[in-house]
Amino acid sequence: MEMKTVFPPRRAGYAWRMTTHDKDSRLTPEQYRVTQLCGTEAPFSHPYNGEKRAGTYACVCCGAPLFSSSAKFESGSGWPSFFRPVSDDAIREIEDTSHGMRRIETRCAACGAHLGHVFPDGPAPTGLRFCINGAALVFTPEDEEDGEEDPS
Ligand SMILES: [Zn+2]
Repeated sequence: MEMKTVFPPRRAGYAWRMTTHDKDSRLTPEQYRVTQLCGTEAPFSHPYNGEKRAGTYACVCCGAPLFSSSAKFESGSGWPSFFRPVSDDAIREIEDTSHGMRRIETRCAACGAHLGHVFPDGPAPTGLRFCINGAALVFTPEDEEDGEEDPS
């Protein structure tokens, strides 16, 4: 299946570092739709929503660490939710006025992949809720983090 990358005009100023061809070859259609076309997976559809193990969530596109399981909480929204990223510069926040709402979109700061949104109704200590599509993430459990690289 051939998929063309069509970025909305409001994102035209964003500096994309990876080639779309590189992403096309590695992402599933759902991962592509979420991260490259700013899609949203169905709530409660992704296994990471209920993931409870300790570990790290990285960008599915470029592998940059984004969230730690220590900041994950059960929001009831149906999407993996975190109260903070692994570091302040891991996430890029962009105002999103689509769908008649004013929201803050979150992207991977390293490659620009769409992750989800951040809302000001999260728990202490940050009061933030990073509402993230599981399809944008790759989870590595803590006891496997020092293991071998993915052989692909
Ligand atoms: Zn990335």
